Amino acid sequence: MMVKGVDCLTNSEVREVAFDGLRCKLQFNPGRVVSATAKVDAKSIAARPCFLCEKNRPAEQRGVDAGDGYVFLCNPMPIFNPHFTVPTLDHRPQLIADCLPKMLELAERLSGEYTVFYNGPKCGASAPDHLHLQASPLGAPPFEEQLIADTPGFVDWSDKRDSMTVGITAEPEPPAIVIVGEERSTVLARAMDAIAKLASQFPTDPEPMLNALALHVDGQLRVVLFPRASHRPSNFGHDPAPQNVLVSPGLVDMLGLLITPRREDFEKITGEAVANIYREVSLEREGLIVVSD
Ligand SMILES: [Zn+2]
Repeated sequence: MMVKGVDCLTNSEVREVAFDGLRCKLQFNPGRVVSATAKVDAKSIAARPCFLCEKNRPAEQRGVDAGDGYVFLCNPMPIFNPHFTVPTLDHRPQLIADCLPKMLELAERLSGEYTVFYNGPKCGASAPDHLHLQASPLGAPPFEEQLIADTPGFVDWSDKRDSMTVGITAEPEPPAIVIVGEERSTVLARAMDAIAKLASQFPTDPEPMLNALALHVDGQLRVVLFPRASHRPSNFGHDPAPQNVLVSPGLVDMLGLLITPRREDFEKITGEAVANIYREVSLEREGLIVVSD
């Protein structure tokens, strides 16, 4: 039987969970099981054809030119409607430094409509071998909605200047660096600087573990970096043991919309369990203060 991705999304269920001021949503979406359980070690990656390379894509999958060697594709197993995957035409590894300039450029072009995001090779990308961004409807996940609305207390602004503002998301949100400014080149330079500091403070190969987003509203670019401590929570697993969950956090999960491909996880995960997942997979807030200076 052919599984149709949009049908999976249409039939998905959403449930709200809360804990200690943290308000999140769970999306039960069985179509995402392949992505959530993707083996991303070098050997498994080398053994499969790359699904983002044009020669291996399904014949029905058409693309729209995104400029600079990138192409918009419809994600075959969407979390949002619409949900785009934006890979490069050439097959090269997922690296934030290579695609951050394009991410900001696309965010400006898609101003007020879409958020452009990135999952690191060890932080939710199911194709770590092929450079790609994604785009989703602006403000869809819970924390993104608060970010756009400038909800008081959502971000602790440590560095306020005329041209740019830098801060860290406040408790109880998972710790993230937020950079806001009007000038793309200034925001890009500040974000690259934060990534370089992360790389020296918390060295991991081939880059600091992170998820990132860029969006543009009311003339301002916003970049959010979620530095990560681990790929998946320690209780990640298929095993039917009651504590195990099949949640593989990427950017969308870090923004308060957790994708659960299994019904049992959708039904059992509590707000407290989500807070524990965030604690395990995020870098500690104290570590980010150094980076955001
Ligand atoms: Zn490829």
